[in-house]
Amino acid sequence: MGDERVKEEALQIIGMFQVLPRLVVFDLDYTLWPFYCECRSKGEMPSMYPQAKGILHALKEKGIGIAIASRSPTPDIAKTFLDKLNMKSMFSAQEIFSSWSHKTEHFQRIHSRTGVPFSSMLFFDDEDRNIQAVSKMGVTSLLVGNGVNLGAFRQGLVMHSQNAETAEKNLNRWRTKYSQQSKSSRSEEKN
Ligand SMILES: [Mg+2]
Repeated sequence: MGDERVKEEALQIIGMFQVLPRLVVFDLDYTLWPFYCECRSKGEMPSMYPQAKGILHALKEKGIGIAIASRSPTPDIAKTFLDKLNMKSMFSAQEIFSSWSHKTEHFQRIHSRTGVPFSSMLFFDDEDRNIQAVSKMGVTSLLVGNGVNLGAFRQGLVMHSQNAETAEKNLNRWRTKYSQQSKSSRSEEKN
């Protein structure tokens, strides 16, 4: 499937959801491309997973922000590759630095740079420990086994809308409870 076909399919998938994330965050190594940057040299021409580019362009077209959270120890190589792939200007945040935290620091920075709340973010990564840590922050996070593809993309959007629905229900439950309490306290005041 060519990039354009993938983009069309990704746009159709996006169109099926009423609630969408405001920002989709991607890891680099083994999520957007099938290698570790530190094992490559800057002179090489990288390529992404076959469906990654189409998905990124579909998000961009729909006005959904995209960002990078990578713990690569060679950010210079990662940035050179993003440049070679004509991707450099697409991201509203690019946090590429090695860290002992499992990307929680990356997400704090992405949040302060973009102002997007964690609950409106969707994150794709191939490492379980990153997924665990970041989902605890309230970000919908999906583990990818074979890079980002249309299947993982759809699943991520489903998970995000389910999380948003649960949050909405909890908020409504709290509102109902609160308004009942304030009604009963008002009637007590009258008596
Ligand atoms: Mg990775």
